[in-house]
Amino acid sequence: MRKYIIIGVQGSGKGTQSALLAKGYELVHINVGDIFRWHVQQHTKLGALVRRTMAAGELIGDDHVEKVVRDRLDQHDWNYGFIIDGFPRNRRQAEFFLESYDLDGVIHLDLPDEEVRRRVLARRLCPGCGMDYNLIYDRPAEEGVCEVCGHELVRRADDTEEALAERLRIYHEKTNPILDLLRRKEYVFTVDASRSVDEVQAAIREKLGLPAR
Ligand SMILES: [Zn+2]
Repeated sequence: MRKYIIIGVQGSGKGTQSALLAKGYELVHINVGDIFRWHVQQHTKLGALVRRTMAAGELIGDDHVEKVVRDRLDQHDWNYGFIIDGFPRNRRQAEFFLESYDLDGVIHLDLPDEEVRRRVLARRLCPGCGMDYNLIYDRPAEEGVCEVCGHELVRRADDTEEALAERLRIYHEKTNPILDLLRRKEYVFTVDASRSVDEVQAAIREKLGLPAR
């Protein structure tokens, strides 16, 4: 059984790395943000609450986040283990988790703020079809034009220098105490996320002591 949590700033490749690890070792990939999005799309009671909370610009309460994680793990479909992405978001959530479950490791994808800025500010979106691009590693063939529908690409409204600086500030403010807490339990494996996808994945597997696959 392999039980992991992955922590990383936006642009660190957290989703990609979790998916690769899950695929390689038959782990269940639990993305807490996706579970909330599912509830919104399915118009569940929780979905309505999430919608109201987001509309008010507030964060979803710890109780709801913890319940979603607990309910997901209670399904016990993780015969070989799991990797949780998007949780815990604060110290209290981390404490709740450690009281109820044991972990084999926390993967911390470390990326300097400067590199986050470079990656995130290179993101482009097609307002026509919703296709995502990145000017660093996923450039459209013709500059500034969507390859699928030909629409002009734009930057996301919240991908400005100022908005990103604020998101980074909040990320560090919330994440540092979580990492401190987890480090005291000797769980944290920090991996340099500035390298290529394959190199980062290989480093994660090596640090976790996983057999090659
Ligand atoms: Zn398009």
